[in-house]
Amino acid sequence: ADLDRSQTTDALKDQVILVTGAGDGIGQAAALDFARAGAHVVLIGRTQSKLEAVYDRIEEETDTQPIILPIDLAELTIENARELAYGIEQNYGRLDGVLLNASLLGTKMSIAQYPADIWDKVMQVNVNSCFYLTQALLPMLEAAEHGRLIFTTSSVGRQGRAYWGAYAVSKFATEGLMQILADELKNISKVRTHCINPGGTRTAMRAQAYPGEDPASVPAPEEHMPLYRYLMSPESQGLHGLSVDARDFL
Ligand code: NDP
Repeated sequence: ADLDRSQTTDALKDQVILVTGAGDGIGQAAALDFARAGAHVVLIGRTQSKLEAVYDRIEEETDTQPIILPIDLAELTIENARELAYGIEQNYGRLDGVLLNASLLGTKMSIAQYPADIWDKVMQVNVNSCFYLTQALLPMLEAAEHGRLIFTTSSVGRQGRAYWGAYAVSKFATEGLMQILADELKNISKVRTHCINPGGTRTAMRAQAYPGEDPASVPAPEEHMPLYRYLMSPESQGLHGLSVDARDFL
């Protein structure tokens, strides 16, 4: 019932929500969904043209004020993350939600063979950048009435599986980061944090991981958006520290 109540066009009205990996796949769908629910979205991604396309759709469809920030998270440092936080503070004066969604799949290979340079890059994009953004953005989330920090996990981040290498290890780390943060915040903060596991979803990453699969056999990103909107909205204030499977909400 709370989830249904959150599916209104003003569920996130005037909130400011940052989404990483907002140019494609699940992040693109989430950025559009949050804007349709009234949020001003901060779109972070690697490819400027993809971010511009999402920006244009949001401008066409809503009267919110998005901004795009082309950033390669493979290069992000704690200092850059602090500058980003300062920029959001200057521009909007608030931050209500963060969806840490951008990830790299890396390569599928055994631990015995896994290339160390790909390992480092996957851990930097999928884990380190999330830590930097979390630390830099937390003060603004704490100042918000209903601060939200949502991480993105995967089933290979809960049970190890051969050949999933750095990607799987990065998702175990993501679950750990969320759990530690949830425990630290639970008695002292209104901020709510969760992991969402989208499960098999029709995106470029899924096609890279499962090249032989018929894309139509898995749900489109849009189908998961009621859950994403709900966990971002004030309606989910009673929930904290969960690792949620999106397919349970289809
Ligand atoms: P996509 O590859 O379709 O999209 C990922 C987005 O992240 C892209 O827009 C990409 O930018 C961006 N990104 C990647 N690397 C960087 C970087 N270094 N700096 C900035 N942006 C970057 O992936 P999905 O939408 O499928 O995945 C979204 C999340 O869901 C990920 O965390 C993934 O692990 C998780 N997930 C997905 C599943 C699925 O089946 N799709 C299943 C389980 C979990 P660009 O487009 O410019 O490359």
